[in-house]
Amino acid sequence: MGSKQKNGSRFGMVIDLDRCTGCGSCMVACAVENNIPPGPLDANERTGNTWIRVQKVDSGLPFPQAQTAFVPVTCQQCGDHAPCVAVCPQNAVEVDPETGVVGQIPERCLGCRYCMTACPYHARSFNWWDPTWPAGMEQTLNPDVSPRMRGVAEKCNFCHGRYHAAKAKAALEGRRELRGEEYVPACVEACPAGAIRFGDLSDETTAVGQAIRDGSAFRLLESVRTDPKIYYRTERPWLRQLAGKRLGKQEKESVRG
Ligand code: SF4
Ligand code: SF4
Repeated sequence: MGSKQKNGSRFGMVIDLDRCTGCGSCMVACAVENNIPPGPLDANERTGNTWIRVQKVDSGLPFPQAQTAFVPVTCQQCGDHAPCVAVCPQNAVEVDPETGVVGQIPERCLGCRYCMTACPYHARSFNWWDPTWPAGMEQTLNPDVSPRMRGVAEKCNFCHGRYHAAKAKAALEGRRELRGEEYVPACVEACPAGAIRFGDLSDETTAVGQAIRDGSAFRLLESVRTDPKIYYRTERPWLRQLAGKRLGKQEKESVRG
């Protein structure tokens, strides 16, 4: 995979739902990489903080056709008109023109949570508490990522700290371009099933660039026209339909079982 580091890169992912086993390694790797503290004991699904969640979904078909799948959902890295960018009164969410990554700037966030309301993918979290770690665990903190304070929203940024570290290393070696394998988010590296591929979508020589051009990949909620940079693929028609993809006649019949 040879990612070209140039103006106009569109970093993105292709997640293979037929490989994901729902193990949750991506969630753990993300939390450790990005200094996301464990929630207090009374945190719940609404108040807990995670940048990637693995959702279990069922086909709803009767036995013996019943099937289950796991869908890792993170910030879908919407296009230039990302809903969260449009509603933020503080310009605390910006699309980086160099990478296409929708970034969050916690120092500007006033905590109004408009972005959380606007996001169709429920991809954002709010810091209801100041970050704290159990004694000893603070030694595992990543020095390249600032913990966020209570009262600000946050979300996945494709491990931006890793991007900057890779760029700095390349600059030291006299290179302006990154090699594809030099920059991958923590979830991609941690997934034991190899379900998440990452790279420059605008480069048709990368694995992800090829995967989105062969017609098998789809995006969540295409109908809301957010132009995400997270793609999914699966051979299972019911799963494609659940994600909002329009099916052909033959596929529809197979979903009905
Ligand atoms: Fe913003 Fe949600 Fe789109 Fe991510 S998925 S860019 S948080 S609107
Ligand atoms: Fe699925 Fe890979 Fe995440 Fe495990 S680490 S839940 S296999 S995407």
